[in-house]
Amino acid sequence: HVSTKPPPEPSPLRKAKFFQANMRILVTGGAGFIGSHLVDKLMENEKNEVIVADNYFTGSKDNLKKWIGHPRFELIRHDVTEPLLIEVDQIYHLACPASPIFYKYNPVKTIKTNVIGTLNMLGLAKRTGARSESSSLCTYYLVLGNVDPLSHHLFLGQNRILLTSTSEVYGDPLVHPQDETYWGNVNPIGVRSCYDEGKRVAETLMFDYHRQHGIEIRIARIFNTYGPRMNIDDGRVVSNFIAQAIRDEPLTVQLPGTQTRSFCYVSDMVNGLMRLMDGENTGPINIGNPGEFTMLELAENVKELINPEVKIITVENTPDDPRQRKPDITKAKELLGWEPKVKLRDGLPLMEEDFRDRLGISRKK
Ligand code: NAD
Ligand code: UDP
Ligand code: UDP
Repeated sequence: HVSTKPPPEPSPLRKAKFFQANMRILVTGGAGFIGSHLVDKLMENEKNEVIVADNYFTGSKDNLKKWIGHPRFELIRHDVTEPLLIEVDQIYHLACPASPIFYKYNPVKTIKTNVIGTLNMLGLAKRTGARSESSSLCTYYLVLGNVDPLSHHLFLGQNRILLTSTSEVYGDPLVHPQDETYWGNVNPIGVRSCYDEGKRVAETLMFDYHRQHGIEIRIARIFNTYGPRMNIDDGRVVSNFIAQAIRDEPLTVQLPGTQTRSFCYVSDMVNGLMRLMDGENTGPINIGNPGEFTMLELAENVKELINPEVKIITVENTPDDPRQRKPDITKAKELLGWEPKVKLRDGLPLMEEDFRDRLGISRKK
C-alpha cells in the first residue's frame, strides 16, 4: 500500500542542510604530498567540507597550513589502523607511506596500514552508506514519505570510497606498458612486499566490499608522481635529484641507470583522481604519465634544467627494483576523458622553485 499523502515538510534546519547539499569528504593521508594537493583542489568548491585524518608519519601540518581554521576544513590526528567513527559522504583513502625508505622502515606497520587501514575505511564507508543502490532506495523511501530525506549523503547517491593503489601492484612487470588487465609479477616475500602486496590486498578488500556489501568503490593505480611538497629527503628519485642539484651534490643514479619510470606532475594526478571519484567506473584505472625515462635520462634533464655544473654518479641499487614502468592509460582516456598535461621538463622547474624555498638556497646568477 503506497500512501498518497505528500511527504512531511522538513524542519527549517534540515531544509537548509538539504539545500546546501554539502558534500563532506574525508581525505586520509591528506597531510601528505598528493593528499594536500587534493585537499587544495577539493576546498576550491564551496559545497565541499573536507576532513583530513592523518598520523603525520610522512605528512605534515605545514602542507595544510592555509586551511587550518577554515570553517569548511577539519584536521584530525588519527591512525587509520584504528577505527574511525565520523559521518562522511566520500572517502579518498590515501593514508600510507609511499616512499621506499619510509615504507621499509617499519614494514609490519606498512602492511597494517594497507590492510587494517583499508578495512576500517571500508567499514566506515559501509556504515555511512556508500552503497551502489543507495540513491534509488532513497528515492523510493522519499516517495513513501517515511524516511528522513535529509540524510543528504544517501540522497545524493554519491557516497563512495576511492583507494590510491599503485603501479607497484604490477611488480617487476613482464608486460610493457602495463595495462589494468595485467596481474603483475610481484615477489611476496621481498623487502618491498609490505607495500606492493599490501596494496594488492587493499584492492582485494575494496572489491570484496563492493561484491559482498554493494559498496561503491573506485581504485586508482597511481604511477610515480612528483611536484612541490614532496619530502625533501624521502629518497624518491625526483626529490633526490632536485635536492642534490640545488645543493651542488652529485646526482646518485642507482645502477644500472637504464631502469625506467614515468613521472606524472601532481596537478594532473589530482585531476585524474577527482575524475575517477566523480565518474561511474570502479577501476582499477591507471593514472600516470606515459612519458618514459631512464634514470640516466632523468638525471641529464635535472642537470640541464637546474644545475649544469653538477656531477652524475652511479651508486648501488636496492633489491627488487622494477626495471621498467610505463602506464597504458587508454582506459583513463576513454572512461574518464583524462590525460596528463604537464611535461616533465615543465614540471621539474616548478618543483625546483618549491625546493629552493624550503632549502633556502636561491639560484646562482
Ligand atoms: P606521502 O607519504 O606524502 O603521504 C602519505 C600520507 O599518509 C602522509 O601524510 C602520512 O603521514 C599518512 N599516513 C601514513 N600512514 C598512516 C596511517 N597509518 N594513518 C594515518 N595516516 C597515515 O605519500 P604520497 O606520495 O602523497 O602518496 C599518497 C598515496 O598515493 C599513498 O597511498 C601512496 O601509496 C599512493 N601512491 C603514491 C605514488 C607517488 O609516486 N607519490 C605512487 C603510487 C601510489
Ligand atoms: N569501522 C570504522 N568506522 C566505522 C565502521 C567500521 O572504523 O564507522 C571499522 C570497524 O572497526 C571494523 C572495520 O571497520 O574493524 C570493518 O567494519 P565492518 O562493519 O565491515 O566489519 P565488522 O565490524 O563486522 O567486522
Ligand atoms: N633511484 C635513483 N637514484 C636515487 C633514488 C632512486 O636512481 O637517488 C632510482 C631507483 O633505483 C628506481 C627509480 O629511481 O629505479 C625510482 O625510484 P623511487 O624510489 O623514486 O620510486 P619507485 O618507483 O621505485 O617506487
